[in-house]
Amino acid sequence: MRDSFLIFGQPLIEQAEISEVVDSLENAWLGTGPKVHRFEREFSEYKQLPYAAALNSCTAALHLSCLALNLEPGDEIITTAMTFCSSVNSIIHAGATPVLADIDPATANIDPAEIERKITPRTRGIMVVHYAGRMCRMDEIMRIAAKHNLRVIEDCAHAIESTYKGQGSGHFGDLACYSFYATKNVVTGEGGMALSKHKSLIDRIKIMGLHGMSADAWARFSDAGFKHYQVVDHGFKYNMMDLQAAIGIHQLERVEENWKKRRRIWQQYVDAFSAPDFPAGLELPAPLEPEEAENSRHACHLFTVGVDQNLCGISRDRFLERLTALKIGVGVHYLAIPEHPYYQQRFGWRAEEYPKATAYGRKTLSLPLSPKLDERDVTDVIEAVKEILQTP
Ligand SMILES: *Cc1c(COP(=O)(O)O)cnc(C)c1O
Repeated sequence: MRDSFLIFGQPLIEQAEISEVVDSLENAWLGTGPKVHRFEREFSEYKQLPYAAALNSCTAALHLSCLALNLEPGDEIITTAMTFCSSVNSIIHAGATPVLADIDPATANIDPAEIERKITPRTRGIMVVHYAGRMCRMDEIMRIAAKHNLRVIEDCAHAIESTYKGQGSGHFGDLACYSFYATKNVVTGEGGMALSKHKSLIDRIKIMGLHGMSADAWARFSDAGFKHYQVVDHGFKYNMMDLQAAIGIHQLERVEENWKKRRRIWQQYVDAFSAPDFPAGLELPAPLEPEEAENSRHACHLFTVGVDQNLCGISRDRFLERLTALKIGVGVHYLAIPEHPYYQQRFGWRAEEYPKATAYGRKTLSLPLSPKLDERDVTDVIEAVKEILQTP
């Protein structure tokens, strides 16, 4: 067994990030400043989307994106039953009503047919989540959106490097939200960004992300001299700090390199778990459809397996405990949204009404997949999984 605990989702921080943070500290420019502007510019260049607002989380980006759509009470936004709670909470915070759609169990992504089934006269938009780094069926979803005149927000928290049929994540919807949380593909500790091809939406997000101060307020964070500002709305305090951007700038320089490392580990897992002599019982992530495989890219953010108790003789929760006991850190992405008591009480959602997301959430388990893993770590994960399956 391993000596040390393998922490789930540990980021790979290198000397460049450390030196850049020290530089910020030495220059005593901690808050929003030149490094945030640089990170915004470079991330928007990487994503090939012209307008960007760096914020202190993806949750803030999702919240402000919903606000930017000027939703009214009773307006409905359809999102997936298999996501992190903040996708749903951001819709509620914007004063709208979240409506859940069930998933395609093969990908855990929102099912376009379920979106159509949930459309009502009050539906204003769709918030898609590209689960684990695999993009939703955006061609079908954008057709539905066009037909019903709906806005689209892409929750790209898992999907920085993803493409779908030749187009990058964030290029389909009106707004795209990225996360730089400590376990994500580019990290700043806490952090997020909203991107768009529409200048007006990002202008609105910048105002609402900084107390509702007029656009000139952002210029306060430069050496251009004092600027007066006016408060034009009751906004929020969601701006990113230079200390965070200092990390992000150098993480972004290695985004492709780190993606290749994760993709390699992903393939090692697939090869090991699907080898003929490997004990049965795990459901592996489905490969891309043939029509996608040519020109689509999976960001390889999460390696999720389904624990089939009938096949392997052990429950998912017991599997989690056993891996933890073997010093392998694990995650669950996610318990389905309708399983949480708050949403059940507030919206009357019941798990049985979302059978596919519910079943997925009860069997899923995420194995470590970070560029920080070395060969030994990967072997340890594979051996631990094997041991559990052999002696359930
Ligand atoms: C991590 C995550 C978020 C929230 O990101 P933060 O930056 O932590 O606010 C939102 N949606 C999904 C799908 C996520 O995985």
